[in-house]
Amino acid sequence: MDFDYTASEQSFREEVRSFISENLPPKKERDKNFLANWLEKVRAKGWVGFAWPKEFGGSEGGLIEQTILREEMALAKAPPLGTSMMGLAWVGPGIMQYGTEEQKRKFIPDILDSKVTWCTGYSEPNHGSDLAAIQCKAELNGDHYLVNGQKIWTTGAPWSQWIILLTRTQFDVESKHDGITCFLVPMDAPGVEVRPIQNMAGDKHFAEIFFTDVQVPVENRLGAEGEGWNVTVSALANERSSIGEVTQMFEKLENLKELVKTTSKQGQPASEDPKVRRTIARFEMKVAAMKFNGLRYLTKQIKGEPLTSETSVNKLHRASLEIEIDDFAVQLTGQAGLQLRGGESAVDGGTWSKSALNWPNVVIGGGTPNIQRNIIAERLLGQPKD
Ligand SMILES: Cc1cc2nc3c(=O)[nH]c(=O)nc-3n(C[C@H](O)[C@H](O)[C@H](O)COP(=O)(O)OP(=O)(O)OC[C@H]3O[C@@H](n4cnc5c(N)ncnc54)[C@H](O)[C@@H]3O)c2cc1C
Repeated sequence: MDFDYTASEQSFREEVRSFISENLPPKKERDKNFLANWLEKVRAKGWVGFAWPKEFGGSEGGLIEQTILREEMALAKAPPLGTSMMGLAWVGPGIMQYGTEEQKRKFIPDILDSKVTWCTGYSEPNHGSDLAAIQCKAELNGDHYLVNGQKIWTTGAPWSQWIILLTRTQFDVESKHDGITCFLVPMDAPGVEVRPIQNMAGDKHFAEIFFTDVQVPVENRLGAEGEGWNVTVSALANERSSIGEVTQMFEKLENLKELVKTTSKQGQPASEDPKVRRTIARFEMKVAAMKFNGLRYLTKQIKGEPLTSETSVNKLHRASLEIEIDDFAVQLTGQAGLQLRGGESAVDGGTWSKSALNWPNVVIGGGTPNIQRNIIAERLLGQPKD
């Protein structure tokens, strides 16, 4: 295996680095217009929707270049490349694949220009892991559908303008994967009620959403009626960049290395303590293992082979590693490490304690460890069905 980058890949890395050094001032020096300017500049560079086809406003960037871009942005702790994470990760790609010409014209540019934020209305009470069993109902009624039902754990719902919504249009079906239909719904439509849920870190990032006689025009249906399961599966496949998982862990590890240098343990920097050093080395090896796994999948993608269940390996690995690193950071920093933002002696602005309380984001969101284990056992290792 050749881990070296080609000259053009290396020069792309240099280009990203010099862009960052010119356009990313230290946090303290950023004014209130910084984020808007940053988003405009990265858009002008073609780095929002980097891998998207040019006909939709993307750059058709290569997979390796995309990895380099993400790595450098993570290393520099740069703001995101666009405001609608879900819009860029799966709503946009879903619209490109299944949308009508009108939907493409209406929705794609606003995602790239960070003008709208999307949220994802898939999970319902009792139907998270068992997503295909959803019950939120959509009935055709002339030129619109009437939607009634409930969604839950919808990340970003309190501030999003649009939701990609999974509903059931047919209840009398042989397989629960049939009779599901996907819609693009404005969050300010009459009958949509968002009730934010506070998590244990004190944030209100997600919400439950109630739909009561919400009228959704037929032209807002994404894909054909009953085709919603395929729309969802192929849209979510775009999320599966195991390299993305690695980049985030890489950033976390770098932050931890900074923390041990500035934290004192028995009168000396914690980074001098052999036990701490061993722990950091162990984390480093785990992140490296994720990286090599990610590269293996990247190689597959470069060869044009689709990724299937293998990304569950890194997702599972990351779930436990995130918890281990957060716990270690909080323990290392003692009482102060327990304080959240605003606490008198909060460490790193309370980032570590908050992250430790936010473990459900990476552990449960997007599929629980049990579900990942089932996928690995059944689809990768050929074990009998659970
Ligand atoms: C931070 C966060 C953000 C989220 N954001 C969104 C979002 O934006 N949009 C959205 O639609 N959803 C979102 N979710 C919901 C998430 O996808 C579901 O919570 C997740 O899929 C689990 O489903 P559930 O909550 O119904 O739990 P359940 O499916 O009821 O699982 C409960 C327990 O049973 C286990 N279990 C379930 N089925 C099996 C099985 N077959 N074999 C073995 N064990 C099993 C699970 O592993 C888990 O331990 C989010 C969740 C979190 C925590």
